[in-house]
Amino acid sequence: MKIIETVPEMQRFSDALRAGGKRIGFVPTMGYFHEGHLSLMRIARERADVVVISIFVNPTQFGPDEDLEDYPRDFERDREMAESVGVDVIFNPSVDQMYPDRYQTYVTVQEVSKDLCGPSRPVHFRGVATVCTKLFCAVKPHFAVFGEKDYQQLQVINRLVLDLGMDLEIVPGPTFREPDGLAMSSRNVYLSPAERKSALSLRKALEEARRLFDSGEQSVEAIVEGASRTIREYEGTRIDYVKVADAASCIPLSGEIEGDCVLALAVYLGKTRLIDNMVFRLPESDE
Ligand code: AMP
Repeated sequence: MKIIETVPEMQRFSDALRAGGKRIGFVPTMGYFHEGHLSLMRIARERADVVVISIFVNPTQFGPDEDLEDYPRDFERDREMAESVGVDVIFNPSVDQMYPDRYQTYVTVQEVSKDLCGPSRPVHFRGVATVCTKLFCAVKPHFAVFGEKDYQQLQVINRLVLDLGMDLEIVPGPTFREPDGLAMSSRNVYLSPAERKSALSLRKALEEARRLFDSGEQSVEAIVEGASRTIREYEGTRIDYVKVADAASCIPLSGEIEGDCVLALAVYLGKTRLIDNMVFRLPESDE
């Protein structure tokens, strides 16, 4: 497996692959792998000739009070895990490579970034859109795989690629969960045993929303209330938001559910903020 640390070397490597007719699949990450990351790499492996992943803890997507310094890192462990699923290249640039002196260019996906996680993480999606644009310029992939776990991020990237006419396909990967249903996340390592138990409230809230929806409930407010009540039943949970939003624009809905939508939620367990989501599709009408 090859490790590449500079942007020019990554570009030269990808140019050579493209010239040889190879299909490049890409999985951008911040490292500290779990099975969720590996599931995306496996999707890339199935569809690509060459699988490139990146490991880069991107400073521009962290707010000043967030966990940039403490974000868990272990390159050697990540390298072994990536190798075990057949990754060909790890692109592992330094912060200076990605943000050289006097850096000043940022990409903003306006509407999709605005709500859900936007208000609590005001610089986050600008950082994500910027770093993904830069990673795409470095890796030049034919397709890139993003997890549905970070639902709003996936929609930001879909919009970014569409709006800028980027020549790559975005492939969504399903959320990989612990046996009890908690979505895997690098941040789960921060949870105390008591917080880990209450972290199950996110999944249970989604299940309650699904139960209501399947029994014919179409009121956004009733579904949000059912999910919120479930979260509050668990000790030590603090809701950041529970919202039903349009599945593509991520703009919150009210009244009756219409078209495809997503129930998205963010919950604090102590200092750790966890997110999860579930997509609701109304059955196609016959008319
Ligand atoms: P991160 O390293 O947290 O930035 O995540 C890198 C990629 O892995 C993103 O596309 C995430 O959406 C995805 N990802 C994170 N957790 C999961 C999970 N539990 N299941 C599937 N994909 C995930």
